[in-house]
Amino acid sequence: MKAAVSPVIEWVTPEQAEFYEQVCRFAGSLPDDVSARDRAETFSREIWERCATFGIQGMPVPQELGGGGSDVVTTILGLEALGYGCRDAGLVFSLNAHMWTSEIPVWMFGRPEQQERWLPSLCDGRAIGCHTITEPEAGSDAFAMRSTARPVDGGFVLNGRKTFITNAPVADLIIAFARTGSGVGPYGISAFLVEAGTPGCSVGPNMDKMGLRTSPMADVFFDDCFVPAEAMLGKPGQGGEIFQASMRWERACIMASQVGAMRRTMEQCVRYARRRRQFGKPIGKFESVADKVANMKIAVDASRALVLRVGWLMDRGRDAMVEAAVAKAFVSEASVRTHLDAVQIHGGYGYMTDSELERGIRDAVGGTIYSGTSEIQRRIIARGLGL
Ligand SMILES: Cc1cc2nc3c(=O)[nH]c(=O)nc-3n(C[C@H](O)[C@H](O)[C@H](O)COP(=O)(O)OP(=O)(O)OC[C@H]3O[C@@H](n4cnc5c(N)ncnc54)[C@H](O)[C@@H]3O)c2cc1C
Repeated sequence: MKAAVSPVIEWVTPEQAEFYEQVCRFAGSLPDDVSARDRAETFSREIWERCATFGIQGMPVPQELGGGGSDVVTTILGLEALGYGCRDAGLVFSLNAHMWTSEIPVWMFGRPEQQERWLPSLCDGRAIGCHTITEPEAGSDAFAMRSTARPVDGGFVLNGRKTFITNAPVADLIIAFARTGSGVGPYGISAFLVEAGTPGCSVGPNMDKMGLRTSPMADVFFDDCFVPAEAMLGKPGQGGEIFQASMRWERACIMASQVGAMRRTMEQCVRYARRRRQFGKPIGKFESVADKVANMKIAVDASRALVLRVGWLMDRGRDAMVEAAVAKAFVSEASVRTHLDAVQIHGGYGYMTDSELERGIRDAVGGTIYSGTSEIQRRIIARGLGL
């Protein structure tokens, strides 16, 4: 009997289903040297540019601003397909970070001249973006940030240290969040577009991390960094709102790529459980093995439904903050479980680096931390329930 692992999503339009397949084919054609680059912690600019040429980076940005003008559901499907076909989860993570924390804020909050300056190059692969929220003393409590933007003649002077910044070592555009006012929490935080190389803005060495190792990450330092008044994104004090808008997109769309990665891992497990024989029969005939694979199918289908729900709501102009938190918490945790089970199903071979399954666990764990930890997603959900 043929394994019933078809992903085809009957409840999207034929055009969306065709786009999904196109992205799967494109992603499958990308260089597959991720294992070596994972060890060496190397980011692939070549794959980045090929993705841009295909249209990945530009997907959600309106066509008149240099993008592809896809709706959110189509974008989510594209990112699931990319996560399915491209085994370089670090690169896919970097792409997502770039899209949701750089392109989206510039598109949604930028003035026409800021959009014209940055969006075409962010979409076509010439420029890479990052955003700097987290500080050594302000992680989950992001709005406890201490970085400041002091008004001076003609602009602002930025000071502060940001940490764990995805894409910082390769970024051309750094979105800086800093306090411009005395308000507490999100009030009094503003956002700035800082061009890499601006005097007073420096980037630390690449940070060695457990997973997503092909995605570069570093600290960013602002030491009396002058930016002109026109560098402000949005209005004074709008930084909190800009950050929340990025997070809503990011939580839904990054998780879409995780759905694709889970689907790929599930299919690999199906193949192995049918092929590998112990005690005279395929291990897939043992219920405890088959149940693990069945749980993967449940995880993939439920995860996909949750991320598409966020896309569907966002396409209708709805807030979707709680739904994005539900998707983020569920998918990231399901992905960790799926990748742990995948190693278990593959036994000793799964534990070997060569199997490339252990990398799946290392890559998946980050999902429960970035874009707000699982605990913080549950705070958002509980608040939404009136607790
Ligand atoms: C792969 C990766 C990429 C990242 N990329 C970026 C980036 O590009 N830009 C950026 O600005 N940041 C980035 N970050 C930082 C990320 O946003 C923070 O790591 C995250 O928000 C958690 O903050 P923290 O690490 O300081 O942990 P802490 O906030 O110190 O949390 C430690 C533990 O306490 C728990 N905790 C904290 N507060 C509460 C609470 N109220 N209720 C219950 N539990 C709580 C947390 O859930 C966690 O388990 C990235 C992180 C990772 C891992």
